[in-house]
Amino acid sequence: MIKHLRKHSTSSGPLLLLIVASLLTCTSTKEIIPMTESDILAFHQQILTIDTHVDTPLRLKYEGIDLSQHHDPNEYNSKLDFPRMDEGGLDAVFFAIWTPQGARTDSGHAAIKQQALDILDLTESEISKFPQSAEIVTHSQDADRLQEAGKHAIYLGLENGYPIGTDINNVDLFYQRGIRYITLSHMTNNEICDSSNDTTEYGGLSPFGVEVIERMNQLGMMVDISHTSGATVEQAVAISKAPVIASHSCAKALCDNPRNLSDSLLTLIAAKGGVVQMCLLSTYITPDPPQEARDSARAAMKLKWKGIDRQTDSNREIYRLEWAELNRNYPRELPSVSDAVDHIDHMVELVGIDHVGIGSDFDGGAALSDCFDVSGLPNITKELFKRGYSKSDIRKIWSGNLMRVFARVEQIASSQ
Ligand SMILES: [Zn+2]
Repeated sequence: MIKHLRKHSTSSGPLLLLIVASLLTCTSTKEIIPMTESDILAFHQQILTIDTHVDTPLRLKYEGIDLSQHHDPNEYNSKLDFPRMDEGGLDAVFFAIWTPQGARTDSGHAAIKQQALDILDLTESEISKFPQSAEIVTHSQDADRLQEAGKHAIYLGLENGYPIGTDINNVDLFYQRGIRYITLSHMTNNEICDSSNDTTEYGGLSPFGVEVIERMNQLGMMVDISHTSGATVEQAVAISKAPVIASHSCAKALCDNPRNLSDSLLTLIAAKGGVVQMCLLSTYITPDPPQEARDSARAAMKLKWKGIDRQTDSNREIYRLEWAELNRNYPRELPSVSDAVDHIDHMVELVGIDHVGIGSDFDGGAALSDCFDVSGLPNITKELFKRGYSKSDIRKIWSGNLMRVFARVEQIASSQ
């Protein structure tokens, strides 16, 4: 596959990224390879890369983004299109079919299920416009096949199990529509489990949530524990016959946010063979630095829109626009790729190289100072080499680990 290197890369000259400091700090298991910047970019373009969580369907819905066109992320609310995937050497992604949460009633569940199906329809119709560039795919081996064909693999995940409602048949329905992971909850509890950002309702999974995981195992869908409570994670890992994933989560030891995973949860997920995909959302990477004006504006917003998850669609749209304006008015200093890779280092030191990957959350709020959209992803590879990760390690982080879990999930389903 011929891909374009990043427009802004400095590919000329034998710039050695052999940094003495990293030699001194690297562990004995890491292998420092002297490589030029252009060697690193060529390696990044050549390997299979997958990002397990982008909210691009929302940008298709709200901004009408044309995926075939190159967008300036400072001008458009968009972090991913095919030209920037090419620049960033990003082969495959999971598009999150995200839904907000409304009333936990039959009519609330029916309405949100329809909304999820509508976003699926829209995503399918947009991708089908560009058969030369991308395909929606469902099998773990499709990403390799499409990379060889010079196309992007678009997988689908359902972010929030709320559209499942209380009907187990909906798990089958979303599987048939191509969904290959379900993030069990979003920011509030649903019929499946407790969320990391809500009160304790079940103390983990509901009895229905146990059924949902069993059905996902039978069908071959990955169980995604990002956004769920610690007790939910423990129970999901214990109940699932297959390894679980966190499609976009960071390490709590480095950034104490309810969305991040404690060392004991990271250890549990890894012990069962699972994988945690590091997220690039600033508030999960480093704690928000205090900023008086911004903090009070945020507090006022939270008060004004208390219980937003249970409000009408039109109110949620106003909230979304107001929140975007607040972030424009009071920008936070963004963390860097180096701050993000600290999370990879932590997880690798804790559980080894086989349980870490990348799920950016681009188009859902993610941005780093030196990786502001998908075109900046090669900077992660540069940082990994700088820290002494080997080519084999970096392949695992960029796709090997996730694809191992995905294939295992499929294998367990087919053997039942
Ligand atoms: Zn999320």
